[in-house]
Formats: sequence, structure tokens, C-alpha cells
Amino acid sequence: YVDFNQKIDYVFKVVLIGDSAVGKSQLLARFARNEFSIDSKATIGVEFQTKTLSIDNKTVKAQIWDTAGQERYRAVTSAYYRGAVGAMLVYDMTKRQSFDHMARWLEELRGHADKNIVIMLIGNKCDLGSLRAVPQEDAQEFAQRENLFFMETSALESTNVETAFLTVLTEIYRIIG
Ligand code: GDP
Ligand code: MG
Repeated sequence: YVDFNQKIDYVFKVVLIGDSAVGKSQLLARFARNEFSIDSKATIGVEFQTKTLSIDNKTVKAQIWDTAGQERYRAVTSAYYRGAVGAMLVYDMTKRQSFDHMARWLEELRGHADKNIVIMLIGNKCDLGSLRAVPQEDAQEFAQRENLFFMETSALESTNVETAFLTVLTEIYRIIG
């Protein structure tokens, strides 16, 4: 429950990164507005969406940034990462290549962001389980080695989306708050 007359205690910037078409924009739509669309157009222009929530009786505004179709390697500008205290590193669990690219996304993120940034590795589209191309153990091992949180989600079915964002925001709060 959030009282909108209450002052905002914290604003946390969180960035979404990962290859094109892994579901970043739909994860954001699901979390911020509880919406999903099958024919989501490539993100153009929109920089971020916000969601205000309550953590430990404090009012936290999550400001979640979505890449505006800049998903090619090194195309995301440093302004995108600036000030980020959290990151969602998203791959499509039906596309092995999108997982193989996580290492370089992480390297780029670590090159730009604060060293205390909280990072969640996300295997999205878990509703397509029969098409799985990335074993959970591979992702778990990568996450453990790199010290990331890890979850499999479905923006389509709403699985773990809220939990993933809340885990990151709560951890940021624990560090900063
Ligand atoms: P982005 O390029 O990473 O922002 O990816 P989008 O959010 O635009 O999603 C790309 C495509 O994947 C769209 O057709 C979405 O409808 C679809 N999609 C996104 N999330 C899911 C999911 O959880 N399950 C399934 N089955 N499709 C998804
Ligand atoms: Mg997008």
C-alpha cells in the first residue's frame, strides 16, 4: 500500500539490459503497469517508467530504464548506466545466444556502473519451457560465479516478475537505506 501524498524517501534507478527481443520491454510493462503485448514494437524513445512502492515503511520510487532499441554491443550510452543502483540482465531462455551474450553485457555494465550495483540475471519466457535452450544449472553457475541474483521469469504469464524487481529493490534498500 502506498500513500501517494507521502513524500518519496528514495528514488532507485534500475536499468534493463540484454539482447533485442528477450522481453525487456514486456517485463517492464508487466511490472510497472501489469500489461503485456504479444506484438510489442521495438522500444523507441521511451526512456523509463516508474513504480512507487513501499519497502520497510519507506516510499521508494523505482525508476526503470529500458533501452531504446540500442541493444547492439557498445551502442548503449554511458548516460543510460549513469546513476544506476540496480540492473536486470535479461536473456531469453529459448535462445542460447542471448545467454552467451550475458558475459559481455555484464562486462559493459561493470565498466560503466557503480561498483555496488545490485544485479539480477533473468531467464525470461519460462512459459515456453518445451523450447528451453539454456539449462537452469548453466545460468545458476554463471550467476554464482559473478555474484548475481538469478530468476527465471515469464512476462507473459506474470511468473516471478514482481519478485525479481522486488528482490533487487529490497537489496538496494538494504545497501543504501
Ligand atoms: P525487448 O526487445 O527485449 O524489449 O523484447 P520485447 O519486450 O519487445 O519482447 C520481444 C517479443 O517477445 C515480443 O513478441 C513479446 O511479446 C515476446 N515476449 C516477451 N516476454 C515474453 C514472455 O515472457 N513469454 C513469451 N512467450 N513471449 C514473451
Ligand atoms: Mg524493448
